[in-house]
Amino acid sequence: MARYTGPVCRLCRREGQKLYLKGEKCYTDKCPVSRRGYAPGQHGKARKKMSEYGMQLREKQKVRRFYGIQENQMRTYFKMADKMQGITGENLLKILELRLDNVVYRMGFASSRKEARQLVRHGHFTVNGQKANIPSMLVKVGDIIEVKEKSRSSVKFKELIENHRGNTVRWLEVNPEEYRGKIVAEPTREDIDIPIEEHLIVELYSK
Ligand code: SF4
Repeated sequence: MARYTGPVCRLCRREGQKLYLKGEKCYTDKCPVSRRGYAPGQHGKARKKMSEYGMQLREKQKVRRFYGIQENQMRTYFKMADKMQGITGENLLKILELRLDNVVYRMGFASSRKEARQLVRHGHFTVNGQKANIPSMLVKVGDIIEVKEKSRSSVKFKELIENHRGNTVRWLEVNPEEYRGKIVAEPTREDIDIPIEEHLIVELYSK
């Protein structure tokens, strides 16, 4: 399935909540969800009663859009989560959080997950000193993520570091001045700040 390349704010409006896909704009009053909090399109304002399947589907789409995941990847992650010990829905979110692109975003080395994916793909990061240019790479506790030496002088990274929002996630330790972050713990459900009912996704994929 091809990656969605249309206007991303429509995706947030479709889900009826902020998915933070556009970097800084998401935190301003220019965000269309704040201004037009209804679904896009001609019938966007009409409230429809949703079926059980519809609710499960919407929840799954929301997570996919939030993390920028394609359907086949999502199914693969679900199978992994299902085989792990613990609650499948929480395992699924934990796997998604541990993707390298998400970790780069959470560390504040990109203004959105989309930008993080692009920066990783362009080879601007290392994991434990080794080149890492696969956004879906899963990182683990103890891993050190760094902006490559050569990339640090670029305008992009200078700006990102100047506007760095500090250490905002408990399971990550970030040192922006050194362009480095470490994973100090596994994310728990409480650490994952997305308004998701993950059990609906589990129900959908378990059919
Ligand atoms: Fe979503 Fe950000 Fe656009 Fe708001 S500005 S609708 S949060 S992508």
